[in-house]
Amino acid sequence: MKKKLLFSTAAFLMVAPLTSVHAETVHTVQKGETLFSVSQKYKVSVSQLMSWNNLKSNSIYTGEVLSVSNPQSNLQGITGIQTYYVKKGDTLWSIATAYKTTVQQLMSLNKMSTSTVFVGQKLVVSQTNVSPTNPTSPSTSTQIYTVKAGDTLFSISRTYNVTVNNIMSWNNLKSSALYVGQKLSLNSSSISPSTPTPEPTTPSTPSKVYATVAATSLNLRNSPNGSVITTMPQGAKVEIIQTSNGWNQVKYGSYTGWASISYLKLVVSGDGSTSTPTPITPPPTTTVSYAYVTASALNMRTSPNGSVVTILPNGAKVQVISTSGNWSNVKYGSYTGWVSSDYLSTNSGGSPANSSGKIVVLDPGHGGADAGAVNGSYYEKNLTYALATKAKQYLENMGYRVYVTRTSSGSCLPVYTLTPDLQCRVDKAKTYDADAFVSIHINAAVPGAIGTESYYNANSSYDGSMNKQPSNSKILAQTVHSYFQPQMGSTDRGVHDSSLYVLRKNTVPATLIEIGFISDYRDLNKMINNTYQNNISNGIAKGINAYFAKVN
Ligand SMILES: [Zn+2]
Repeated sequence: MKKKLLFSTAAFLMVAPLTSVHAETVHTVQKGETLFSVSQKYKVSVSQLMSWNNLKSNSIYTGEVLSVSNPQSNLQGITGIQTYYVKKGDTLWSIATAYKTTVQQLMSLNKMSTSTVFVGQKLVVSQTNVSPTNPTSPSTSTQIYTVKAGDTLFSISRTYNVTVNNIMSWNNLKSSALYVGQKLSLNSSSISPSTPTPEPTTPSTPSKVYATVAATSLNLRNSPNGSVITTMPQGAKVEIIQTSNGWNQVKYGSYTGWASISYLKLVVSGDGSTSTPTPITPPPTTTVSYAYVTASALNMRTSPNGSVVTILPNGAKVQVISTSGNWSNVKYGSYTGWVSSDYLSTNSGGSPANSSGKIVVLDPGHGGADAGAVNGSYYEKNLTYALATKAKQYLENMGYRVYVTRTSSGSCLPVYTLTPDLQCRVDKAKTYDADAFVSIHINAAVPGAIGTESYYNANSSYDGSMNKQPSNSKILAQTVHSYFQPQMGSTDRGVHDSSLYVLRKNTVPATLIEIGFISDYRDLNKMINNTYQNNISNGIAKGINAYFAKVN
């Protein structure tokens, strides 16, 4: 299901977790819940929920995060919060300077994983955690910080103008190692208001902080945004030296350089001994070998020199099972038999791939905490991942370099937040210098709706941004759709212009394809079938290959 981010929802989700006052203003949909049951729980109406969440229908899915109170009135109700709407030309740095704060502070206040901002985005630029109406209450003077990926004690201490030793003392920390989600008190009153713990006079040497690479690969640069020194593989362990404005200075083997904090996952213990590296997705098997028929027609026989089973056309692609002498045992469609090896070539000859040097980023929609559309035990995130990995293998067989934006169980970022996670996918297309970006999704609606539809961004803009390569995006969407849609064999709902986030924010030709509807078994039964998955994925790969033939 596509996520068309409407401004109010996105901005609210980013600022919602700031203080405990907000704690009950969002609700994660549990299995079996309906919009009505959620409305009863929070004593609001179904229509209010639909309005606050920009819902087009009253269907919700497990894991969906809903605003359960008016986002606008909540924001205005918090004293001490000052907000700013991002204007054209702004950077997080220029905003930080204008408000006499730091990029780090703004990212922390707005729970941002990258320093990217977009026009119209609402940012909290200052926040006072002490409630002026009840200044003596101990609870209001307690400032709790939740550790996020990339944080170090040093970076937190800088943000809150305290020392590393302060934080270690207030939280009884034995080492400076942190873990994502850890709650830290950032002043002494929360621990012992009457007798503050004295600051140690002889600080112990902080132990080392480690992280693992939580992306398919991660560039190590000589400075933030500088040139690439080396590329670190997924799961690689690095030592964090310091953190600055969304970048970590890290030590990786004999290299020292800078890497984006978005793709580094902190490990729990200081010495790394109990660390659990991100599971590495096994590479697809490439043991299947293929060959192409070079003769104008080639007899397939029951055995070497046996009787003819069928005749293979020139250029036919066959799977080679085994060879014996000058004969090859091959599979072609539903036929299996023997052909003369003299008329087979591993080079496709007449039907060349257009893959020379081409890089494709495949984006399986949703992932991790975001299941996408759900029907019973079927999750969109699992179906899109299965299709993406199969398409990857078909493309690699044609010689393409292919990257997938996430692992089987994870989201794009180590810690999921909707908008930054979508930006992470867009960033990967740019980082890998991709020639095409294909986002794979499964649609959902009330049962009855079926069919396949695809999107590109060429005409419509939103929040001032549009795809940087609109005409090629349109060709990509139309070509890929024309190849995979017949394989799905459902209603053809067409190819449309859309300002979806991963399309409009992309710097490379991009399409988002909705394979079919998870909410109707006529489509779902096909999408969970292995043969259909293979044919659809092969169609996606062939469509991408045909696109490059058109634009080369
Ligand atoms: Zn989706």
